[in-house]
Amino acid sequence: MKYRKNKSVKSNSISPHFSKRDFKCKCGHCENSFKISLGLVGGLEMLWSKLRCHIHIIKGYQCSNCASAKKNANRNYHASGLAVDLKVDKKSLKELFIKAEEVPEFKGIGLNISDRYVHVDTRKKEDRVCWIEKSGEKIELDKYNRQSYLENL
Ligand SMILES: [Zn+2]
Ligand SMILES: [Zn+2]
Repeated sequence: MKYRKNKSVKSNSISPHFSKRDFKCKCGHCENSFKISLGLVGGLEMLWSKLRCHIHIIKGYQCSNCASAKKNANRNYHASGLAVDLKVDKKSLKELFIKAEEVPEFKGIGLNISDRYVHVDTRKKEDRVCWIEKSGEKIELDKYNRQSYLENL
């Protein structure tokens, strides 16, 4: 006798703390297509274990429709399933950013002050880039300016 397949939330999960729904494109024109790097999911699980609270994925995969609509000078890692924008309810943006820095998989980490989220991506680069975004302006962090920017958050 075969058991009936249990259609629980489980079937939607991609890892212990994240579901496919979290990563799907939210443009509303593409039937929620999605593509996600498993390395990124692994990094997010590591981040979860450091924060131990629910992580909201505000933006995961972006389909080619909405990715090209936005003329971005930088490479859009969301469109290749390598990036997510995150926020957590119980921790500050700064704490989220600092914890994200502890995850070696994340090679691009951006803190968006105006929209209150942290972007992480697993671009194929040796060196990590960190930046702060405020009112559309992007400031790359280095060992000299890092302290003063993070202090004033
Ligand atoms: Zn879409
Ligand atoms: Zn992003």
